[in-house]
Amino acid sequence: MVPLMASKVRLYVDHPLGVGQSVPLTREQAHYLFGVMRLSEGAVISLINGADGEWDAEVLKAGKKAGVLSCLAQTRPLQMPPDLWLLFAPIRKERTAFIVEKAVEMGAARICPVQTDFTQSANRIRQDKLQAHCVEAAEQCGGTFVPNVDELGKLDRILADWPADRQLMFCDEVLIGDPIALPAVDGPWAILIGPEGGFSSAERTRLRGLHYAHPVSLGPRILRADTAAVAAMTVWQQALGDWT
Ligand code: SAH
Repeated sequence: MVPLMASKVRLYVDHPLGVGQSVPLTREQAHYLFGVMRLSEGAVISLINGADGEWDAEVLKAGKKAGVLSCLAQTRPLQMPPDLWLLFAPIRKERTAFIVEKAVEMGAARICPVQTDFTQSANRIRQDKLQAHCVEAAEQCGGTFVPNVDELGKLDRILADWPADRQLMFCDEVLIGDPIALPAVDGPWAILIGPEGGFSSAERTRLRGLHYAHPVSLGPRILRADTAAVAAMTVWQQALGDWT
């Protein structure tokens, strides 16, 4: 619930948006709009719901614990990100939250926390908290789509169920210093980032044997996992995504 510009508040609601649609507010949303942002009846804000684009909506009723908005007109259509999944091994809580936030800003369609051999078991994730970070990031960055965050899944299970047509950008720290070489294959992709400890040799052997997995270097220095996630998405977006 972060204003995009000083003038207009942008809010995610779990409700359909359409002409004349009235949108009831939760207690938390009413508190934010009328308590924190000091809006009153007649004010116009932006709404997104992850599916119907962005809408201008007017405050019809403003109360301390409740309120109602009315949709006026669509200001932007739904803009889907490219079909890119980000798979990453959870690290410390704040850094995992950073990765999720950046994934939304950079344009990921789905966020998949994965448990690898060297993922620290202390780094449990709270899926609901990470999903809430996605919503906030979408509100803030002007996005109209909110990627889904999966529950933590085991890497070998995820690879066993891998969709045949999806390429995998396997960011492998042993390739440090090699040229950054991403094959120019269109279609669905995913990025895989390892934990602080990197990938085990068993994982590396397995990944190297998969026809859809492309081992990629991220330059001459070892990046922290959170930096690597942003760098990999930049490289991918620039080469194959919606940046060009
Ligand atoms: N402990 C490891 C580094 C892990 S960095 C070591 O010292 O070798 C965490 C993750 O970021 C890696 O698993 C990889 O996915 C990614 N990464 C970081 N730097 C990279 C680089 N230069 N090239 C490719 N991947 C990199």
